[in-house]
Amino acid sequence: MNKETEMNRDDVIVIGGGPAGTTAAALLADQGWNVRVLEKCKMPRYHIGESLMPYCWFTLERLGVLPQIEAEGFTQKLSVNFVSPDGSQSRPFYFFQHSDHPSSYTWQVTRSRFDQILWDNAAAKGATLQDDTRVTGLVRNPDTNAVTGVTIDDGHGGHRNLHARMVVDCSGRDAIAAAKEGWRTRDPVLNKISIWTYWKGAKRDPGLDAGSTTVAYLPGKGWFWYIPLQDDVVSVGVVAERDYLFKPGETRDPAEIITREIGNNAWIQDHLAEGEQFGEYWVTGEYSYRSRYCADDGLLLVGDAFAFLDPVFSSGVFLALKSGEMAADAIDNALRANDVSAARFDDYGKQLCDHIEVMRRIVYAFYDEEFNFGKLIRAHPDIRGRLTDCLIGDVDNDFEELFQRIAEFADLPDELDYGHQGRRPRQPAPALA
Ligand SMILES: Cc1cc2nc3c(=O)[nH]c(=O)nc-3n(C[C@H](O)[C@H](O)[C@H](O)COP(=O)(O)OP(=O)(O)OC[C@H]3O[C@@H](n4cnc5c(N)ncnc54)[C@H](O)[C@@H]3O)c2cc1C
Repeated sequence: MNKETEMNRDDVIVIGGGPAGTTAAALLADQGWNVRVLEKCKMPRYHIGESLMPYCWFTLERLGVLPQIEAEGFTQKLSVNFVSPDGSQSRPFYFFQHSDHPSSYTWQVTRSRFDQILWDNAAAKGATLQDDTRVTGLVRNPDTNAVTGVTIDDGHGGHRNLHARMVVDCSGRDAIAAAKEGWRTRDPVLNKISIWTYWKGAKRDPGLDAGSTTVAYLPGKGWFWYIPLQDDVVSVGVVAERDYLFKPGETRDPAEIITREIGNNAWIQDHLAEGEQFGEYWVTGEYSYRSRYCADDGLLLVGDAFAFLDPVFSSGVFLALKSGEMAADAIDNALRANDVSAARFDDYGKQLCDHIEVMRRIVYAFYDEEFNFGKLIRAHPDIRGRLTDCLIGDVDNDFEELFQRIAEFADLPDELDYGHQGRRPRQPAPALA
């Protein structure tokens, strides 16, 4: 690296200004590191992923943004509620019945506003933030293959390289590093499609349930989410197997598919009857994946850029915040030790995979034909607390007993054997005899 490049080098470049990126950036800038965030969209930008888990509170507290979030007027979420296709409801899982702590309620957020709060916070902590700036590739040292920066689109048809001691990939489901390196590996089972849109003026339940997330079942283990947002808006989405939503020989129009499925759940039908749909219909597929590696020399993968899990338990933003926080701590240590080799991030990868595995097992149970929460709680009423731990994001707990009980009703997956470690340097070719 020549002298000029070295002088223009940041300590850290973060790709992506979502919750993972701005969390890592704020915490690293707060430690005095020189951090640059590159975001392809103009902020604020639309994003799905509106229902938070209560344990987001701890990272939001560390970031110092709870006052701004309280002031924003987001809907308060006190529980999760499950509804059968005939409209009958299970007893809601109220978080405050489980723990008497400020983290025992959370929010349904408009992501453009939530993400902007985190973005402004990273700027206030001293990070340099560039929106409207797309990263098109990683820069590697030709001799060592270590990542030493990124290439950006300069907006005039050309490209420019930016250099840093450490690159943090927080590019969400674009997963720029995993996609380019061929590391993105789909979950062997979880592969759903989702279609979603918004309603205005739809029904809200009274009292404590006004801001609940409702998961409303469809035949064949598909489901609706019903997420009451601020300004009288409700986010409504359907998640199911591709063949269920896009039935051979039937309509492929997302609006018609959602309308058809509304007729398959009495609670959803009743709640939407008095509202009016507005805006786009969104569709996404290729649901759950994990990267083969969590790091390379000079590179760390965080949030959805590392792994994405089916959103049935609203774990995405929680895992993005949590991994952003874990990444900041690991990178701070690595920079201080002047060692950003991939192996330094094995503990980060192992801990993050352990958290993801807790949520992944419960997602598998959810989709198992033989399983439902009512059945589990009736058979083992004492397990309700542990189950709620899972649903609030208290993933550091010991869940062995919970999963033993769940295994009486559902096939649970083996742990995935990849993602826990950083990539090891390529072995030199063996010498010819
Ligand atoms: C259908 C659906 C429903 C969901 N529902 C929920 C929910 O209810 N609750 C929940 O917690 N989670 C939910 N999620 C998951 C949630 O959206 C994500 O887990 C969360 O946004 C991850 O945060 P992140 O910071 O890792 O990525 P993102 O929030 O996606 O941020 C990544 C950022 O990187 C930027 N970027 C991408 N590529 C580049 C590039 N090349 N250069 C520069 N910038 C780039 C993007 O523009 C984006 O701003 C849902 C997801 C889906 C698909």
